[in-house]
Amino acid sequence: MALGINLSFCVKRWVTPALWARLVREDLGLGLVQLSFDLVDPLWPDEVLDKAAGDVRQACAEHGITVHSGFIGLAHYTFNQLLHPEPGVRDAAEHWLTRAYAFCGKAGIRAAGGPLGAIAARPDAVEADEIPAADYADLVARLERLAETARGHGLSELYIEPTPLRREWPWTPAQARRLSDDLAGAAIPWRYCLDWGHAILSPPYAPEEARVEPWLAAIGRDTGAIHIQQSDGRLDRHWDFTEPGVVDPEAVAATLARFGLADRPVFLEVFYPFEETDAAVLDRVRRSVAMLAPVLGGE
Ligand code: FE
Ligand code: MN
Repeated sequence: MALGINLSFCVKRWVTPALWARLVREDLGLGLVQLSFDLVDPLWPDEVLDKAAGDVRQACAEHGITVHSGFIGLAHYTFNQLLHPEPGVRDAAEHWLTRAYAFCGKAGIRAAGGPLGAIAARPDAVEADEIPAADYADLVARLERLAETARGHGLSELYIEPTPLRREWPWTPAQARRLSDDLAGAAIPWRYCLDWGHAILSPPYAPEEARVEPWLAAIGRDTGAIHIQQSDGRLDRHWDFTEPGVVDPEAVAATLARFGLADRPVFLEVFYPFEETDAAVLDRVRRSVAMLAPVLGGE
């Protein structure tokens, strides 16, 4: 198993490749990261992005870091992306992703991913079991097109991160299975990044279904990476492992092994309040990685 870290904890803090690459290698002792697009905005001007891509390559070479993928952070996720009710906003999300793939290509990052989008809430606040069929068809068409685009920028795979929200897709294992089948002919593979902390939430899942096993049974073979976080199982906490919670790293490792997924990289994905001190964040991330590395790998 390989333990890596999503750079979500660096947002607004260790914002340049020189800063995060040194920290990941020297303070955390890791060599694998997932770059967050909360650190690089694909809509920045070309020359700014080109400089950032070069900096990623240089800092990673210097510190022996591999960037597994570029992942949508909280900023872009906020805008409902590919399922926004306005077609023009969906187009803008496609444009954003196209620029994200171009950046990844330039930075030497071979994969990109994140949550896909969210439909609007209804006036009566009733949440249906799934998004309308027309929205689903439009989403699949856009994902096919995006795979073509990503291939053109030198990427070899794309990732979908399922979210525990009924306005998004996919939020159930069956929906994820269906989407994988519908994307089987894509130019490069659309795989899954499964967030452990999303699968265990109740609601939206019934208490007996709020487990990772139904996801691994449905889409285990399509799952290329894992996110872990500590959680109370009530909301999507993204706590680190210095907090008490319901996620047991040993059980995570055992479950992945049982499903034949021990070779998939596991990324710690934690978020902190902006007002938390830098020292507290560094201390807690360092202690979390020290707890997880013996169980989930690490280099
Ligand atoms: Fe996640
Ligand atoms: Mn999450």
